[in-house]
Amino acid sequence: MNNQEIMAMGQQYVMNTYGRLPMALVKGKGAWVWDAEGRQYLDFVSGIAVNSLGHTHPRVVEAINKQAQTLLHCSNLYWIESQVKLAKLLVENSCADKAFFCNSGAEANEGAIKLARKYAKQHYGPEKYEIITATNSFHGRTLATITATGQTKYQKGFEPLPQGFTYVPFNDLNALEQALGPHTCAVMLEPVQGEGGVIPADPSYLMGVKRLCEEKGLLLIFDEVQSGLGRTGKFLAYQHYGVEPDIMTLAKALGGGFPIGAMLAKDHVAKVFQPGDHASTFGGNPLASSAALAAMETLLQEGVLENAQAIGDYFKDKLSSLKNKFSYVKEVRGLGLILGVELTIEGKDIVARCLEQGLLINCTNVNVLRFLPPLIINRDEVDQALDILIGAMGTSL
Ligand code: PLP
Repeated sequence: MNNQEIMAMGQQYVMNTYGRLPMALVKGKGAWVWDAEGRQYLDFVSGIAVNSLGHTHPRVVEAINKQAQTLLHCSNLYWIESQVKLAKLLVENSCADKAFFCNSGAEANEGAIKLARKYAKQHYGPEKYEIITATNSFHGRTLATITATGQTKYQKGFEPLPQGFTYVPFNDLNALEQALGPHTCAVMLEPVQGEGGVIPADPSYLMGVKRLCEEKGLLLIFDEVQSGLGRTGKFLAYQHYGVEPDIMTLAKALGGGFPIGAMLAKDHVAKVFQPGDHASTFGGNPLASSAALAAMETLLQEGVLENAQAIGDYFKDKLSSLKNKFSYVKEVRGLGLILGVELTIEGKDIVARCLEQGLLINCTNVNVLRFLPPLIINRDEVDQALDILIGAMGTSL
């Protein structure tokens, strides 16, 4: 089928929930993807921070092939070797002690919200249930996670929303202090806001949040679904800040392209979950866990974090120089290879022109060009992307 045929069939049979670009991708290798007509694109979206090892990484493909011939699924009624090994790897490379596996970022955040509420009720009583999140945040599309998400555009039309969420401006410690009340049980933040426009937390802010949480007996939850697993140049974004959360959530890059999410917690928090409290049929099944184990071993063993940091610095420098070239570039932000260029104009035309020229990028929050290339990208590929980007931006002068 060609792009047009796939699109036409999709319009007839698939729910219209995405503003899709007019082509279908059918193949990927490293930082490159191909559409249904054989056109090649440099991928600076990576499935929105999923394909961090690039497309079809051989270690991930091999693990999936091998596991697919052995056992695809069995249920969490039984122990699963690859899941246990994955949990060990995640715990050994984070401040957490235990892992729970699920299938997506939203599901990981649902688990975090339930765990925080149960912990607070057990330790402080039934009146402690409220979670403070940031305006401009993004935590997922289930009812609880659109409510945790501090942006009304995701909530409109789906009311009544679950109770127990309050929002404060990001990077404003005073506002958070003012918002704390008798019902507050936790604070949930992205160390780097992704969908909200690539906004890293200020180090002093996160340190202040941690101090407040300790003083008031609140749990600190970091949503690392987008910022985690090497995207910022460290395994987890919080490691740039030296501020440890009690609970953290992961998904996106975890499975190297295979769907899997995780919610990690320190022992004193994790232990309030007992058999029957939380579950997920597919969570951490043999196939997903094998893919994720291979992806995470590759990430940690093959210099991927170091590359993300070094290439991220190089790319950010080059993007910063666009401020001198284009008067509509307002700010360049980000850590490692989650980079954003805020414009004073809308970004969608630039995204469309980049696509025409063979570069996939994305625009978030209307006017922030977001760059999420695979973490295995090299300088040459960054230079190729910059050439296309500069050409596309030049037409917006
Ligand atoms: N949390 C953050 C920070 C995200 O960026 C996303 C997705 O973009 C989610 C949660 C939701 O993840 P999923 O789409 O896998 O449910």
